[in-house]
Amino acid sequence: MSNRRQEIEEERYRWLGEFPTKTFAGGSALCIGAMGTSPVFETDEGLVVFDIGTNRHGRRIFAEMRKFSDKPIKYIIYSHGHFDHCFGYKEILEEIKEKGWEMPVIIGHQNLLHRFEKYRMLDKYHEWINSMQFASITKRGAGVSAHETLDPNKVLQGNETFIFKLGKYTFEVYHDMGETDDSLWMYIPELKTICAGELVANTYPNLGNPYKVQRYPKHWAIAMEKMLEKDAEYLVRGHGPFIEGKENVKECLSVFRDAMHFVHDEVVKRLNEGKWFEQIYHEMLEIYPDRLMSSEYLKPIYGCYRFAIHAAYRLYHGWYNTGNPTDLFPAKATDISKELLNINSAETYLEHAKKLFAEGKLQLALHILDIIINCEDEIGPTELLLDAFQLKSQIIKQKVKDEPSFIAANIINAGAIQLKPKIKDLRKKLR
Ligand SMILES: [Zn+2]
Repeated sequence: MSNRRQEIEEERYRWLGEFPTKTFAGGSALCIGAMGTSPVFETDEGLVVFDIGTNRHGRRIFAEMRKFSDKPIKYIIYSHGHFDHCFGYKEILEEIKEKGWEMPVIIGHQNLLHRFEKYRMLDKYHEWINSMQFASITKRGAGVSAHETLDPNKVLQGNETFIFKLGKYTFEVYHDMGETDDSLWMYIPELKTICAGELVANTYPNLGNPYKVQRYPKHWAIAMEKMLEKDAEYLVRGHGPFIEGKENVKECLSVFRDAMHFVHDEVVKRLNEGKWFEQIYHEMLEIYPDRLMSSEYLKPIYGCYRFAIHAAYRLYHGWYNTGNPTDLFPAKATDISKELLNINSAETYLEHAKKLFAEGKLQLALHILDIIINCEDEIGPTELLLDAFQLKSQIIKQKVKDEPSFIAANIINAGAIQLKPKIKDLRKKLR
């Protein structure tokens, strides 16, 4: 495995929460990795917990927290309503009931409640898209049902800031938008600690996710500026281990800020120049600054720059991407492919796809192969069709291997999974 590949793999594991639990801020806080990261703060009057993980990680978070302190939980803060940050409440509730403790104050943004409602309305759909996005880690389904949620009992409205004291610490809870419109982050001045939630994770920001709704690059940059003003010593990220030391915290927040301003402002500039998506996208790939590309804080392991270009474009533009009227109400891909097969034989296209593959032009080879594969019914069960399926599967597997982004790799791999039964079936028929 190459060094770069190895680094990406290791960073992916850390994104998933596979790193040791560790205390920080002089021992008064604990950072637990469990897919989403959960920091816990101990005060004389009880615990403050920032995020509680997925329903499958709740048990681990609870066990680690109870090794650290036996004090009751007084506050829970939800960084946002994604399933890896606020669904791991089962063990916490059981303990409260058993000990007869009071329910903690549970703080979330008003948009988090709208999010839960949306999840309930679209639960089958979300299960479907998440089973693709997280295909490599959730063999038993994504486990994201929002039918049972532990809802906040202190709901922050709009840009409301909420400040509370517990023991000798002050907890400042702020709202900003970034990956989501329901983000909260927290600052504890006495401990010089920021809990960033998903506004900072150990990946290039998850902006422009191909399956998911609009995200907010400009707001994200502004959130980073607000965090930078705190001059913090510790930065607890929504995924991955915490960052320690003022200079490191500053560097991480600065590259996040710069990455968000950059992708937003350069896309906006090109929109003002009357450019269409394809041109913007390819120009943007050319100008991605080295400082951002090589930053250890912006590895494209989950979100990536390529997706972010889409997000910035989508903020201000609809779905007509090319400026070519042919594309406004296009014919079906299968009908176009049939016409192309009338001009040239399937053998010619297959030979050409093989040539492109041999030259390393994987993406172009896929486009040509799809002319054949789109006409599978017309071509029927032949060696040629089998060859086309197998070559596509081989190219997809190569692309998955080369792909740093976990989301992109899972999406591409979904194509290989769909081809598998087709290849098997065809082999049987041709035997
Ligand atoms: Zn997350």
